[in-house]
Amino acid sequence: MKVTIVYDNDVSSKGLKAGWGFSAVIEARDTPTILFDTGADSATLLHNMEELGIDAKRIGIIVISHAHGDHTGGLPGILEVNKEAKLYVPASFQGFISGRGVTIVTRPLQISEGIFSTGELKDVEQSLAIETGKGILVVAGCSHPGVGEILDAASRFGKVYGVIGGFHGFRSFSRLSGLSLIVPCHCTQYKSEILELFPQQSIRCGVGLVLEL
Ligand SMILES: [Zn+2]
Ligand SMILES: [Zn+2]
Repeated sequence: MKVTIVYDNDVSSKGLKAGWGFSAVIEARDTPTILFDTGADSATLLHNMEELGIDAKRIGIIVISHAHGDHTGGLPGILEVNKEAKLYVPASFQGFISGRGVTIVTRPLQISEGIFSTGELKDVEQSLAIETGKGILVVAGCSHPGVGEILDAASRFGKVYGVIGGFHGFRSFSRLSGLSLIVPCHCTQYKSEILELFPQQSIRCGVGLVLEL
């Protein structure tokens, strides 16, 4: 499976645009292409997707982690280009989406083959748990419920291999020990501390980063 960062506060290669927000594309066998969050604006999101060779029309599922604008701002643009994608939104998301399949998420559930939602934790945010050959990869938006809580919730689907996303306010760094892959993105305040503490496991995040597991 493959995760491509398409929206982030930083860029990792030329020609791509940074913005305060987060979005990632997940491509895996036996599942439609998934867009996780949409960043803060449609223009940046669609520009980066095009630069990275990801056809917005081919997205089959859009998952929104939580209702903050830096994760939902690109939604109108992608919905205009892509009329088919099914949506999975947390119950706290109040946006109006008509004319397509929308699943309101509260409890943990399976989204497609090998792809699960932790459910809406602390009434604010859902994260993805993705089966890989190496274990579960967690993809989080801002981690408002807490990185530890999200890792605990994801572990019901298998042993957690790694985590990628925004780690808002997170500094309980010992919760990351034992993980093989740590990618602190977006709103993570302590990126450099995490990269220093886990030099073997952690990778610098940015638009254009591609992880293949
Ligand atoms: Zn955010
Ligand atoms: Zn947020």
